[in-house]
Amino acid sequence: MKTAHAGAALAFVLAVAPASAQNVKITPVGSHPGELCANDRATIFEDPTGVRILYDAGHTVTGADDARLGAIHVVLLSHAHGDHIGDQKLKAVGAGECANSERLPASPNSTTAEIAAAKNAAIAMTSDMGTFIGRKVQNIHGKPVAVCPQTAGVTSVPVAAPCRSNTHLGGAFIAKTPHAAQGVEITIVFASHANNVPLSLLSEAQRTNLGADNTSIVLGPPTGYVVKFTNGLVAYLSGDTGIHTEMKTVVNEFHKANLAVLNLGPSAGTVTSGAYAMNELVRPASVILTHPNEAVTEGGKLRTTSRTAALIKQLKPTPHLAISGRTMEFDGKGKCVAGC
Ligand SMILES: [Zn+2]
Ligand SMILES: [Zn+2]
Repeated sequence: MKTAHAGAALAFVLAVAPASAQNVKITPVGSHPGELCANDRATIFEDPTGVRILYDAGHTVTGADDARLGAIHVVLLSHAHGDHIGDQKLKAVGAGECANSERLPASPNSTTAEIAAAKNAAIAMTSDMGTFIGRKVQNIHGKPVAVCPQTAGVTSVPVAAPCRSNTHLGGAFIAKTPHAAQGVEITIVFASHANNVPLSLLSEAQRTNLGADNTSIVLGPPTGYVVKFTNGLVAYLSGDTGIHTEMKTVVNEFHKANLAVLNLGPSAGTVTSGAYAMNELVRPASVILTHPNEAVTEGGKLRTTSRTAALIKQLKPTPHLAISGRTMEFDGKGKCVAGC
């Protein structure tokens, strides 16, 4: 009997271990641990092969030395608005209120550039934004940032020095760890939004000229991403966007996204348009809700009076709150199998 039990236990381990090893781990890095707070955007994705991606560093990291970051191989930036590029940084983890975290200036370089420089990361974003961030990384590092080395269209990570993807809308950047059979494919997709850079991140001459007109420069188009992980998970990172037709034609029909990371906030949409975008256009299995511009949780529980709660009531895909510090694991079909 003893042997039979041991055998059964071993069979169980063999059946379970490879499955969990195939999950993509997704960890929001927000202002207040255990909550979903107003300024939360930053998210870390870890492929089963070990590729680690930071999406929109924003205002809720304390800087490149934030202990929650760990190794970062690829840095994504959807657009240059301050809450994404990171013209400010979190004063300390948990500082301030969930509705208004306490921040310090991150000028002249931004949290995105500080992290790309410190982590020796590949900068995967449109060329317009990549060269801008690249120049800031050069300001920190002292060396120009080159286009990422590729072999047969694939960049091996970690890269030896910060580099940039040199991609535009529709282009893909593939990051692969040395012993993996396959890489993670990151495609830049359309977003219906704006892409002006905060004045505080411009050089003195530009800031003076443009500041007089209360305007700034635009770093090409704003974007979202579709990230194809090696386990089959296809994640649509919406960026800030209004509802648009490519959610159906490109994100759903072409890329077949099975997970969406949806940016909320009233400036680019309504509860009704967000629900329609998810239910009828993107149609993923699951939706991670982030960028709420309101304190969504209190004591880790959903505030029933929140705008986010109103959206959840209308969502057909399974909703998950981007709770800071909680690692969610997703299988290849877009289903959360642990941590949700
Ligand atoms: Zn924006
Ligand atoms: Zn935003």
